[in-house]
Amino acid sequence: MDFLSSLLFSLCVAYGIGCNVEPVAPPVVVPPPPVEEDPEYGTLLRDGCSKEYPGIKWFLYADGEGGTYTEKDRYSTECGYSKTLTLSLEQEVGDRFTPVMVDVNYVNNRGEDEPWGMADASTSLGYAERVDRDTVFIWGDGLVGGGVFTLGREEIQFRMKPEPTCDVSNGIDCQGYRQRTNESMIYYGEDDGFVVTWELAVLIYTRGDNVEIISDATESQWQKWGERVEQYNLVYEQSGVHIRYKLVELKLATFSSLPDLQKLRRHLDVDILLGHGTSYSGTCGVARVTTFFREGYPPASLSKCDIYTDLHELGHSVGLAHGPENQAYEAVGYIFPEFGHGWNDICGAYDDLMSYGYEDKFHSNETLYCSDIFSRDTGQVAGSRQWSDTAYSLNRVRYEVALIHDENKYEEQGEDEVLQYIIVGPERIGIEVID
Ligand SMILES: [Zn+2]
Repeated sequence: MDFLSSLLFSLCVAYGIGCNVEPVAPPVVVPPPPVEEDPEYGTLLRDGCSKEYPGIKWFLYADGEGGTYTEKDRYSTECGYSKTLTLSLEQEVGDRFTPVMVDVNYVNNRGEDEPWGMADASTSLGYAERVDRDTVFIWGDGLVGGGVFTLGREEIQFRMKPEPTCDVSNGIDCQGYRQRTNESMIYYGEDDGFVVTWELAVLIYTRGDNVEIISDATESQWQKWGERVEQYNLVYEQSGVHIRYKLVELKLATFSSLPDLQKLRRHLDVDILLGHGTSYSGTCGVARVTTFFREGYPPASLSKCDIYTDLHELGHSVGLAHGPENQAYEAVGYIFPEFGHGWNDICGAYDDLMSYGYEDKFHSNETLYCSDIFSRDTGQVAGSRQWSDTAYSLNRVRYEVALIHDENKYEEQGEDEVLQYIIVGPERIGIEVID
């Protein structure tokens, strides 16, 4: 370093100017940035309507840690959400066995199904029942005329009419078959396969002096009888009988005769009655044959053997007979004399349930082949209207019997209700069949 340079360096060191040394800046005091507090969790930051999906409103919230989260209201009327309820009729006219069918269409603006319930429904006539997501059935309750079904604020009109009947004239019914009674019974045509329910009471025989109902059956008895009634129904199903029993009363009672059962039946709201566990001496069962079916008078029979005896006696009680070629107590149908009775050797080795044959485990049926009922194919039909078709006879009386106790019957409600006692004349002398 020459002298000059040395001097300058000294000067710059001494005075802090003009040399290559970084000057030391005085410290600048920067005030700290104001601390921005995060909005509390759940603070609504923004909201708006979805542009793509009408009816949806979104909400943007603070999560309290500097982030956000969103929520959606899928049912925002403000953003265009709306619901439309439409009622239409699939079947406009009904009766006690053919329902009026109402189609319920309840959708929102996106075309999605909306939930609804029968709590918001009412009908001015009949009995309304929801059968699936969008269908309501309205069954007649015995009153006929115009009715209105209401759901929410929508309503629709329908009609109830009397059931069609098969009229009888000069002992011949609408199908040309002989009928021994002149009761025009409900009839929907030959192809009608509608299955009706017969409400059944079983009284279990209990020893005692008076004729009375003692108590309800135990749980295990209900279990056992429930299974037994399922077996009845299986026989009917296999034989093409469009009736299913529903066990609604199972009681212990003291009785020993058919008149005893007729006394007890007034306490039972059922279509048909079976007393089980006793019968007349030397028999497996006895029945009182009913050929006119009247409300409140369930046909009654006694049985003490197997399920086929039960079905045999139940069959007698609604007009079936043994058949003209039976081994004993020969008789033709009490209502339909041409076919309302049993027969032997129908499907080769098999016999109708109403006959005395040993293989009597089915009801004859002209519309079935033996192979429909039994595993063995005999190529034969399982009955004929010319000699035996007990399934058809049962099917023909099924609606009348189902109405002996009409569970859906219209009952007058109101403060001015006056109880009217039904005055009953002397009972028609019935036919008793034994075994
Ligand atoms: Zn018999």
